[in-house]
Amino acid sequence: MIQLTTATAIEKAINKARTVKPRVRVNCFGSYTVTNKQTGATYTVTCEKRNGRRFASCTCRAGELGRACFHVAAAVGIHIQLASERAASH
Ligand SMILES: [Zn+2]
Repeated sequence: MIQLTTATAIEKAINKARTVKPRVRVNCFGSYTVTNKQTGATYTVTCEKRNGRRFASCTCRAGELGRACFHVAAAVGIHIQLASERAASH
């Protein structure tokens, strides 16, 4: 489980995501399938909010160790976009 504090905390992962450009598929709000197009590796990223804090987890090795991986960074970008669209529609 990775706590998402500030953008700088996952900045490295975001930069990596920009380079790798993984494909993110939305399973449902808060659940994403991230595919590395180069390797074909697919991982599941979940985003959730607990006590006002945002957490994410990923099924890859780094994610299981609690490190911010680029899968999380890529999924969080989509998640934030969806969350703001939801907020705007209510
Ligand atoms: Zn990952």
